[in-house]
Amino acid sequence: MKKAHKIRVYPNHRQEIQLQKTFGCVRFYWNFLLDQRITNYKMKEENAEYKEDKTTYAALKKLEEYAWLKEVEAQPLSQTNMDLNKAYNNTFKSNFGFPKFKSKKYSKKSYRTAAGMKVNNNYFYISKVGWVKMAETLRFNGKLMNVTISQSKSGKYFATFLVDTENFKKEPVTDTIGLDLGLTHFCITSTGEKIDNKNFYRSLGKCLVAEQRKLSRRLEVAKKHNRKLDECKNYQKQKLKVARVHEKISNQRSDFLHKLSSRLTDENQVICVEDLNVKGMVKNHKLAKSIVDVSWSEFVRQLAYKCEWKGRKLVKIDRFYPSSQICSSCSHKDGKKALDIREWTCSNCGTHHDRDINASINIRTEGLSGIA
Ligand SMILES: [Zn+2]
Repeated sequence: MKKAHKIRVYPNHRQEIQLQKTFGCVRFYWNFLLDQRITNYKMKEENAEYKEDKTTYAALKKLEEYAWLKEVEAQPLSQTNMDLNKAYNNTFKSNFGFPKFKSKKYSKKSYRTAAGMKVNNNYFYISKVGWVKMAETLRFNGKLMNVTISQSKSGKYFATFLVDTENFKKEPVTDTIGLDLGLTHFCITSTGEKIDNKNFYRSLGKCLVAEQRKLSRRLEVAKKHNRKLDECKNYQKQKLKVARVHEKISNQRSDFLHKLSSRLTDENQVICVEDLNVKGMVKNHKLAKSIVDVSWSEFVRQLAYKCEWKGRKLVKIDRFYPSSQICSSCSHKDGKKALDIREWTCSNCGTHHDRDINASINIRTEGLSGIA
């Protein structure tokens, strides 16, 4: 199974220059090939005899004016050719849209290579760049397929390794678990564990709002003085700040979700969750912010693929199943409970329930009955 692992990397000054050069060459070559295709197509339409221009990187770099292409690794450029072919084919297969030219300013800076690639603890090596420091070691064992080097809008560098992993199946375990995904807590388990709702947008959100407000003020000032945004140092500086806050929020959330989904899939053979219609719920604006905050759908997605890796089972319960109305002790259906009722006592057997723990136990029971 192929898995991707994205790690922050710290190129030194020389390496940074080399990476930037490669980003630039890849972008240039993409635009060159795209332009070539469009021209070929147009000329052929006008004149069937027209001989297509098929100049490639290999021929280009021999020309004096394009000699700078030699300064970067060749593999990312041939990869660019393949990527463009793929984008072209996708245009006809689905609604991806026609490939676009990459602008210097707005296109994503990235390239993929396997040339000379190797990893040693928290360093990796690629041709023409050398050994680059990474923030952590690779999480997966297996054969290294390729690496994509990218730079985020905030200026940080990342390497995404594609690894063909060894078998990730785990020894079967006997524990099973039900999860109630909630708003008061991120998730409540049938074992009685309440996992805190990390409202990243709420804590860091205030910071984001403030920084964004500053950004729009800078924009107004620039407009007022009729200045080009590229030349407004204050505006650019602030833009970087906003990007950094966004990145921080998304990193923290990703880290939280990965740790939790890894632990739950390690410990349990079967995991039962409600099949939430998150899209449907996000339409309800009051709930929207919280739901986006807690990232349920991303969490369930991670559970699904990690279960598959490890040979576990994820069971999704119909979202109309009344998990909060049924008594998990005697199966008595006790009726609807308003959202603010956090605890209740079963009118049949007298068991006192924590609303969410009871619900997660029911989700587990329902899920297990479905696969029995
Ligand atoms: Zn009961």
